[in-house]
Amino acid sequence: MALLTLKGIGKIYASDGNIAVGIRGVDLSFDVGEFVVVTGRSGSGKSTLLNVISGMDTYEEGEMLVEGEPTSHYLQPEWERYRERYISFIFQDYNIIESFTVLQNVELALMHIDDAKERRAKALALIDRVGLTSHKGQKGSRLSGGQKQRTVIARALAKDSPVILADEPTGNLDSATSAEIVSLLQEVARDKLVIVVTHNFEQFAATATRHIRIFDGAVESDTPYVAKVREEKQTESVAKVAPAATKKRPRLATLRKGARLGISIFASKPRLSLFLCMLLIIGTLGIFSVTSLTGDAAEMFAPRYMFTPIKGRVVLTTQDGTVPTAGELETLAATHGATGLLRYDLLLDTDNSTYCTYHNSEGVRRSLHFDCVYGEEFGNKVLGRYPTATGEVFLYLPISEQPDFGKDAIAIDTVSFHSLPLSVVGVGYYYDNNLTPKLLFTEEGFRVATAAYYLLTRSELNMEITVQGSDGSARAFDLGQLTPSFSLPAGKLMIDSPAYRAATNKAGVAYQTTVTLSAQHKQYNFNYDAEPRVYYFHRSFDSSYLYGDSTPAVKAVSSEVITDDKEVIGDSIVTSSTGTVYISTDLLISVVEEVLQNTYRQASFFFADDVTAADAAEAMRAAGYIAVPSDTEYTPDAISVILSLLLCLALAAFFVVAILFLAFFINLCTGRALAAFSGDMAIMRSMGISVRIIRIGMHVRMLLSLIPAYLAVAATAILIFTSPTFNGYFVYLYAWQYALIFLGVLLLTLRVTQKQVRRLFAESVKKSLRGGAAV
Ligand code: ADP
Ligand code: MG
Repeated sequence: MALLTLKGIGKIYASDGNIAVGIRGVDLSFDVGEFVVVTGRSGSGKSTLLNVISGMDTYEEGEMLVEGEPTSHYLQPEWERYRERYISFIFQDYNIIESFTVLQNVELALMHIDDAKERRAKALALIDRVGLTSHKGQKGSRLSGGQKQRTVIARALAKDSPVILADEPTGNLDSATSAEIVSLLQEVARDKLVIVVTHNFEQFAATATRHIRIFDGAVESDTPYVAKVREEKQTESVAKVAPAATKKRPRLATLRKGARLGISIFASKPRLSLFLCMLLIIGTLGIFSVTSLTGDAAEMFAPRYMFTPIKGRVVLTTQDGTVPTAGELETLAATHGATGLLRYDLLLDTDNSTYCTYHNSEGVRRSLHFDCVYGEEFGNKVLGRYPTATGEVFLYLPISEQPDFGKDAIAIDTVSFHSLPLSVVGVGYYYDNNLTPKLLFTEEGFRVATAAYYLLTRSELNMEITVQGSDGSARAFDLGQLTPSFSLPAGKLMIDSPAYRAATNKAGVAYQTTVTLSAQHKQYNFNYDAEPRVYYFHRSFDSSYLYGDSTPAVKAVSSEVITDDKEVIGDSIVTSSTGTVYISTDLLISVVEEVLQNTYRQASFFFADDVTAADAAEAMRAAGYIAVPSDTEYTPDAISVILSLLLCLALAAFFVVAILFLAFFINLCTGRALAAFSGDMAIMRSMGISVRIIRIGMHVRMLLSLIPAYLAVAATAILIFTSPTFNGYFVYLYAWQYALIFLGVLLLTLRVTQKQVRRLFAESVKKSLRGGAAV
């Protein structure tokens, strides 16, 4: 049985309405051991014949039999398998992959060998055989025509296929080089079927066993050529083909081959690969930033609490809107077994408006927003201790603040809480820099802070200072804000004002100073009629929810006034009224609470745990109060639900758009490089490397390019955890957000690769082969 039999094969090209006959009525039979030389005029159909035989081009008429098996029903995978098993193709334009080295080109044909060492050794042996050992590491693009053709021959040898097809293999070579290639081919031809198309029969005269002339697509003559009779080894050779035919093609092997190919492709175009890596790094870090926005979106679905949830906290107010008395609250605390009571819990629920200022080691003034908490602990990984005295504070900060606040010892002694100076006795750090820092006081410290906060955020306290001299002189000062001071003795005010001193420094005159603090507060009237009323009283200090008229409540403070006499005062500044009035903290509390006790209808109780708190809240409700545990959730109104949904959708869309934009950009930037690949792909396919392996290879290459981007993101994540500075620079993301980024970018690159590969394969093998097509 002949290896290849062509029966009435015809190939017609139809394009743009023109019909060209490639070949027609070709009846030929080939066998192993033959060296067939095909000649004919240009355009006579020689290339078409080889293309049909190689399975790179389909035929419309007749039947080609491979070892007796018909092929007219073959589809792409069968042709791939056929090419892989039988065909090596040598072109006039040297079909090597230019970006691959000689070694890589040869190894490509040795892909079926899994052992890397064995593969390498075999490739080197073959390279040696074609005399290219000294050029093995050279890229295809740097080789001369003859060297390229040698490489192709080495590759054909590597493949060890029974059929070698050569389409004008010496067409572009000088005569000396041609002679070398011919003799190499001759050497290779042993035990194989070689079909060579040439313009120059004489070159092969010494080698040929058969000469076929083609004219106008048909066989003109087919004569045995006996210049050199060769040994007959047919039966043996056909037997040699057989093992290849039974070779299994398991999935894993395909994957392995694809992966190997991908690595080669990646490594063979270092500049393109580097560019792709950079692009993906930049893109991924961009997605990283965009993801931090979608993190905000997720926050919208977090439960909403009426109050800042604190373990065991119950918030209480009265049914009728009256202000509960201190005694009433203490009785309630005792009755229900509360472990703590904050009469004025204002600071617990004022989010994001309480801040501290401090000077860092460089003396730069900075400020931080805090959530004030009560009774919370932050584990044992803290510096210093928890506060025990009124003027002490504990700060729980993002790790990015560590450079300022200290790593092994507390570096900041004092922070000002709304101008209330507090000494920092403890610091703790956390990593999620999306969270608001926390501030912890003692119970008494909390009272002072509340008063300071109230004093400095509400312009409801007025201060008047009048001076009466024994000489009958009188003067009034308006010195603006009060500044709380822990260092003043209890019940004292201190006026530090040049104007005041100037007005009280006349010799022989006694001065009587009166300071009047008046709190102008609103009389709040509320009607609680619906069930979710607690929501409103949570907001009762937000004036937008308030109505009612103003009634002044006046408290005159008759306290001893201390003045600072150290400074020399000139007469010229007598008329100025600038200065500062310091107030001792106990006095501050008494003034502010004078206001609060008439208006503040809310109080917080603390219990051992949330279960106890829930029980206590229920008991308090049974006793006629409005009381809820602080972990009580509420449903926001429809409009804000719709708004946050819309915002969420917008952010999700933004994320998708960012991904798509990156996809578009990568496609744009790598699209042009694709042209270079299309030739390489065609060569690989002509060698019988399946589309699947090539596709896997292209994907592997893209995944390899993705590794640096993933590493960059991972490095950022690690830096956020290890370096306080980086923690400050980058947003903190949760694991699911990292997963989202990795998945998003992965899907994106797969999509881009898929599109590119599809575009590559849309062209037929023959068409994209350089030199494979007709003249
Ligand atoms: P040769 O290799 O002998 O020079 P070819 O086999 O390349 O000739 O071409 C044979 C005939 O088929 C020519 O008339 C050529 O124009 C035509 N032909 C070859 N390839 C194509 C093609 N892809 N599309 C249309 N016509 C083609
Ligand atoms: Mg041709």
